[in-house]
Amino acid sequence: MNAAPKIDLLDLSREQLAEVLKRHGQPAFRAKQIHRQLHVNLVAAMTEMSDLPKALREELAAELQIGSLTLATVHEGDHGMTRKALFKLPDGSPVETVLMVYPDRATVCVSSQSGCPMGCVFCATGRLGFLHDLTAGQIVEQVYWAERLLRASDFPVKKLTNVVFMGMGEPFNNYDQWRTSVDILHDPEGFNMGARSYTVSTVGLVPGIRKLADDPLPINLAISLHAPDDETRSALMPVNKSFPIASLLDSVKDYTEKTNRRVSFEYVLLQEKNDFPEQADLLGRLLRKSEIRPALMHVNLIPWNPVPGAPLGRSHRKRVLAFQEGLHKHGVPCTIRVERGVDIGAACGQLAGTA
Ligand code: SF4
Repeated sequence: MNAAPKIDLLDLSREQLAEVLKRHGQPAFRAKQIHRQLHVNLVAAMTEMSDLPKALREELAAELQIGSLTLATVHEGDHGMTRKALFKLPDGSPVETVLMVYPDRATVCVSSQSGCPMGCVFCATGRLGFLHDLTAGQIVEQVYWAERLLRASDFPVKKLTNVVFMGMGEPFNNYDQWRTSVDILHDPEGFNMGARSYTVSTVGLVPGIRKLADDPLPINLAISLHAPDDETRSALMPVNKSFPIASLLDSVKDYTEKTNRRVSFEYVLLQEKNDFPEQADLLGRLLRKSEIRPALMHVNLIPWNPVPGAPLGRSHRKRVLAFQEGLHKHGVPCTIRVERGVDIGAACGQLAGTA
């Protein structure tokens, strides 16, 4: 008979952890000790909890574990300032995480699913199809991997400043686990990462945007737009058939009115697909017409990163600059993303679960 799977301690809230310890006849302070070891000291194994009696560690280890991802490979790019980790779930499905270190900040891009069901044609993850939703603990574990790396290295920054939920998967398809992971990371008695440090990126799932609008935590929102008209967008992103541009922008307008938070529209530039000057003009007019206040929106242009087998091209630099200029003419704030990780397949849209 197979043994019952162990409980991942990173999945447990403080209350749940206290319950488990109570079942083991332990006083309340033990739960606090373990919580601190997990979320402040970031221990990766029960044996590292040196302030716990050995017998208790052994007893707990029979039922509990810390994390459930297995690190398969780590690749370095951008002269060591970008690291891409490939983890495996217990069944071998891939999960990728990218740490990007800058002179004054460090960002980790984490996955919320293994694979992705959304099928955007320019994205390597979309080509894998959907494999799994990640648990909150598995999302948190990716963040802790990056933080441990920073603490142990000679990087100029020793602590993560940002977590972006832009890796594999669509976070709003796994809303509850994703949101629980933010609570765990935000816990002032735990990892204590500030509320403004999080950015969630969505393909444009309107119910998720509306739900986030009611969230008291000021999580930053990024929306993958990628086209100024429904025909082009539906060809690139099947989700547009369910949530066309008008309904998407309507939900974003309501979101900004309710929260007064700025949203970022992501726009991946594909040569002669969505990068024509007329499309920049159309996008500028569309955003102005949307009634979203210009101060609360921003367009992030992303020159497409090659994905093997995708019949698409990367926009030439001149076209990228012209597109930006086209948006500026309409008074739409717009920047071109500084790229990271292209050399190791870690850039936007390149995560394909390959070593
Ligand atoms: S771009 Fe995002 S939502 Fe689209 S297929 Fe890739 S991972 Fe999924």
